[in-house]
Amino acid sequence: MTRKKILLTFDYELFFGTPSGTAQKCLLRPTQRICDILNRYGQKAIFFIDTLYLEKLREVGDFETFEKIERQLQEIVSDGHRIELHLHPHWLDAQWRDDTWIFPTYRYYRLHALPKEKIVQLFLSGKTLLEEIVSEVNPAYSVVAFRAGGWSVEPFLTLKEAFIESGIQIDSSVGYGMKLEGVAHQFDFTDAPDKAFYRFEDSVVEESAKGSFWEVPITTYRTNILQKIVRRIRRKLQPERYRMFGDGKSVGGLRRNYLEEIRTYEMLTLESTLPRQLLRRIDQVPFEIVTLISHPKGMSEVAMETLEALCRSPHKCVGYEVLL
Ligand SMILES: [Zn+2]
Repeated sequence: MTRKKILLTFDYELFFGTPSGTAQKCLLRPTQRICDILNRYGQKAIFFIDTLYLEKLREVGDFETFEKIERQLQEIVSDGHRIELHLHPHWLDAQWRDDTWIFPTYRYYRLHALPKEKIVQLFLSGKTLLEEIVSEVNPAYSVVAFRAGGWSVEPFLTLKEAFIESGIQIDSSVGYGMKLEGVAHQFDFTDAPDKAFYRFEDSVVEESAKGSFWEVPITTYRTNILQKIVRRIRRKLQPERYRMFGDGKSVGGLRRNYLEEIRTYEMLTLESTLPRQLLRRIDQVPFEIVTLISHPKGMSEVAMETLEALCRSPHKCVGYEVLL
């Protein structure tokens, strides 16, 4: 087994359906368990933080939740992990009613639905918020990477100015081979370079040797319907062990489309692979660097075992310093 460098990424966010779930069960508790395991083995992770949710918490006056998250992000960074920028702009329309989040519309699901100046402002305020939060534990900390909500990063030209203005150098929204034209999601990565990372300039799916930015795609693998059926049966047989920690629901309509469209490629996650399977799939990746995507809200007991197996393996989970 070759020892690989693993970029173990987690999208730190609530659900976007009804209910959206609670910070306690979708974020704070599962992230604590994830970090306990990582820290025990000296492994590092990268958390993409949905900053528009944090800004919304402040806007509606839920300072108690905001401060708990603030403390968790500070711990994450002081333990040597990274936090980076993740934007889900449909939070702009969210309302807090009867102790729950309501999303009356998803018109801003993609950043591209907003004017360019607004996009720049969201990048700047998100990056500043994260850096301010962790300045207490690391005053020099700088956010360098971005992942688009729903992977909706193209056309990149719409976001380019925001990358430049905020000094973001890395995007990690692409998944080679994946394509989706749903109601809200929209991306086509079928012609993206099949590489662990590459430079780009005006499009994340076109390599440009002297490009200003890095694309670090989420590692994908080919799957088939049989594998999906086996996985579903396994989950049915052990519902407790596979139950997600998060207490919310995905957006129904969007999800169905999404599953239909991406049947041939899947992103490599902790949540959808058993411990042995994950190590086998990492072995099969023809690159030295492998990028995983997971979500604290989506973790289960089985996914925690998969995380532990990865931490105990010879592979080294690292941050973006391997590139920069
Ligand atoms: Zn997300």
